[in-house]
Amino acid sequence: MNRQTIDHGIDLGTTNSEVARLNGTAIEVFRNAEGFEYTPSAVWEDKQGRLVVGRLAKEWHERDPANAFIEFKRHMGTSHQYTFARTGRKMTPEELSAEVLKALRADVERRTAEAITAAVVTVPADFDLPACEATKRAAGLAGLQHCLLLQEPVAAAQAYSFEKEEDKTFWLVHDYGGGTFDAAIVQVRDGLIQVVGHGGDNQLGGKNLDWAIVEQLFIPALLKQRALSDFGRHNPARWGGAIAKLKIQAEEAKIRLSAPGVESTEVQIDFLCKDDRGEPVEFSFELKRSELQRLAGPFIRRTLHICKETLAGRRLAPGNIAKLILVGGPTLMPFLREQLKDPAEGLGIPLEFNVDPLTVVARGAAVFAATQRVHDEHWAAQVRPGQYTVKLDYTPVGPDTEPPVAGVVSAGEGVEQDFTGFTIEFINPDIRPPWRSGKIGLGPKGNFMTSLSAEKGKANTFQIELRDPTGALQELSPTSFQITVKGVGAVQITLPHALGVALANNEVVQFFDKGTVIPARKRRDLHTALALQRGQSGQFLRVPVVEGNKSRADRNRIVGTLLIPAEKIARDVPAGSDIEVTIEIDQSRLIRTKAFIPILEEEFEDVLKLESAVPDAKQLAERLRRAKDRLKTTRQKADAAQDPRALELLRQIDSECMVPEAERLVTAAAGDSDAARQCLNLLNSLESTLDDAEDALEWPTLVAEAEKVLEETRRAVETSQHATAEDKREFAALERETHEAIEHHVPDLLRRRLEGLRGLRAEVALRDPGPWLCVLDELKANRAAMSDPALAERLFAQADRAVQNNDFAVLRAAVVQLLRLSGERLKKQFDDLKAARARMTDQARAAALIAAGDQAAAQNNMAELTRTIHQLKQLLSGVIV
Ligand code: ADP
Ligand code: MG
Repeated sequence: MNRQTIDHGIDLGTTNSEVARLNGTAIEVFRNAEGFEYTPSAVWEDKQGRLVVGRLAKEWHERDPANAFIEFKRHMGTSHQYTFARTGRKMTPEELSAEVLKALRADVERRTAEAITAAVVTVPADFDLPACEATKRAAGLAGLQHCLLLQEPVAAAQAYSFEKEEDKTFWLVHDYGGGTFDAAIVQVRDGLIQVVGHGGDNQLGGKNLDWAIVEQLFIPALLKQRALSDFGRHNPARWGGAIAKLKIQAEEAKIRLSAPGVESTEVQIDFLCKDDRGEPVEFSFELKRSELQRLAGPFIRRTLHICKETLAGRRLAPGNIAKLILVGGPTLMPFLREQLKDPAEGLGIPLEFNVDPLTVVARGAAVFAATQRVHDEHWAAQVRPGQYTVKLDYTPVGPDTEPPVAGVVSAGEGVEQDFTGFTIEFINPDIRPPWRSGKIGLGPKGNFMTSLSAEKGKANTFQIELRDPTGALQELSPTSFQITVKGVGAVQITLPHALGVALANNEVVQFFDKGTVIPARKRRDLHTALALQRGQSGQFLRVPVVEGNKSRADRNRIVGTLLIPAEKIARDVPAGSDIEVTIEIDQSRLIRTKAFIPILEEEFEDVLKLESAVPDAKQLAERLRRAKDRLKTTRQKADAAQDPRALELLRQIDSECMVPEAERLVTAAAGDSDAARQCLNLLNSLESTLDDAEDALEWPTLVAEAEKVLEETRRAVETSQHATAEDKREFAALERETHEAIEHHVPDLLRRRLEGLRGLRAEVALRDPGPWLCVLDELKANRAAMSDPALAERLFAQADRAVQNNDFAVLRAAVVQLLRLSGERLKKQFDDLKAARARMTDQARAAALIAAGDQAAAQNNMAELTRTIHQLKQLLSGVIV
């Protein structure tokens, strides 16, 4: 069938996947061969080497986890490889996802005999660029050549707006899936749906609760009865099979407890594993609803917290939100619904769950798919002589009862024809009385425009009639098209996070704000931080693109890095060279980065796909230890100062059980890459909250400091004989910006302004040659510590001549260069780099270089230290303005 719109929507879930289609005004969710509307996203390789998708695969995962995989969506866009033990077949997460998509395609084909080639596929709003790209590739592998990505919460909102027309309102989508949580504020206005705020955690899902049941209830109970040495998730080689069985049972028990009135449920595994003595172990456990609620509490509170933060980020109060839309399996838990409704703990927003939370995303994706026309570039290629074809432009689904339509008629690709005198007419035979547009004259090139008449609440089929200048009917394809008048219309897709480029000084240059309507494109002029020498193998200029709104670059997520290799450049690029960076985002939120370097007159474009590596368990443990230390001191300070904001942030850390949860994940991280990634996310969250708490505590000191420095700088600028009019202008600007930072309460900004003020003060003070002469003397006393003695001597001579000639500028330049050569300076630089270690791209190499640098510093080998510093800088990603 030649479809004019995409029509099919797929929710490719971490846990379950669904496919749906809009038939007229009704949404159909396709059932799989077993009759279920949702299919577990699980793949098993059977004994004949065939791949099996769905419930059977999920069950096999319990019995035979080496030959069946689940939850591979969590690894989308990473280099993770799945190896089926029996045959050694290796598959990537996207190949496994493609198997799920093929199964859904087959379900559609079985029902309708149609092999679909286009679909809208949903992704979590928090998916990063590599994950989105991998999803598109998965669709391609499954035969879906045309695939549009849509964010899950947007799809959910689309489903609700289709069911009930509402306008000028805000909704909050609470999408709690098996592996991810998304909160999205959706605005419905003037027939458009738009996400205007978003928050989420892509490591928070129903699965976390399953693991909590296993680790906090099942395993302790088991170990009380039986000797199972080193039993746990960290030891998958020995206990992987037993742990998988426990987890599946935990999930099933949890789901049973969602049924109304069930207070407890029995878990029974006849054969779990063998104990240390080789005896078979049976497992039984009575899971109480109250226990489940205790475990679920922190996770639900975390979702609530993300909702509140998301609202606060848009300066919205819960009272501004008309409904809270529940999406995802875990929202079927009665306890969750109670918590969300709770006036004290919850949000106080009316809950909405009319549309099944398990299929609502696929339903919304189907509605969206029906609004998206398939763009066929060769629309006029298939026309036979004497036939005509028409390309139409219209809105396939929307609220308009008089929808406009425009188009162009063609006699075939490359065929020139004058259409003067031809007419086109549209007929809607389904309404009473049947409606006709009347004959509309075509322009010489076959173009036309008119509006139609359609009935509300139904799918209107319009027939098209083309006539030549004599009035004779002509053969035309297509002969009809459909417009459904229902819902509020199409989704406008916006960016869920701000997007920018990370700089070497750990600042971010913002390219797009959160909420920017996409597709979008922007160029900014930056400068390179490092020199790049032509032909040096392994050396790169890096342009790291980061997602997030934190002003410290390393608190955001790197979504991709444009690498400009030294091998590819025609001549050297000195530090400080211009570099014009362009970021383009398409409708599926795929990002392309380009950099033009004027001195090379060349543009670079190959985006390196960042494969999020599995975090190292030892490093995670170390980070957690440091975070705990910080937490302790911050708590003491907050208690002493009784600072309400800091205390509130610390309470949040406690109520979401961030530390115990991180401890648990650190232990599990050793053998479980999934736990390692979850742990990393949680640590980021914990550290970021600690940053905010520290900022809150530091604020009064920072403001006092700012006022002091303002005064000192003012004095320097007003009294120094070396201050210029330009200095005074700069001071006035800095003074205004400092007050703004104080007024808006932005610690990072205030720190930067302080730096600016100090810089200006130093600049003015240093125009006085006195201090420079002192520094020169000091440097002369330390002649031995220079990394390049020959150059140093030349500079000393230059400085002496400058003193004789009273040439201040030359004196200053020589001293600055000498300072750079001096050992103290090098060591300080080295220390700074060591402190920035966490931001280096290759941790193993960073560790080796730091060890080498320490040794060089101890031996006062400045040449070696200079080399090490240079190499460390290369690991520090960034471009500087
Ligand atoms: P995903 O979007 O990740 O595919 P789903 O929306 O399909 O996730 O939800 C899957 C999650 O929902 C699983 O963690 C599953 O255990 C949980 N779940 C499904 N039904 C229920 C239920 N009735 N009560 C509680 N949790 C449920
Ligand atoms: Mg989902």
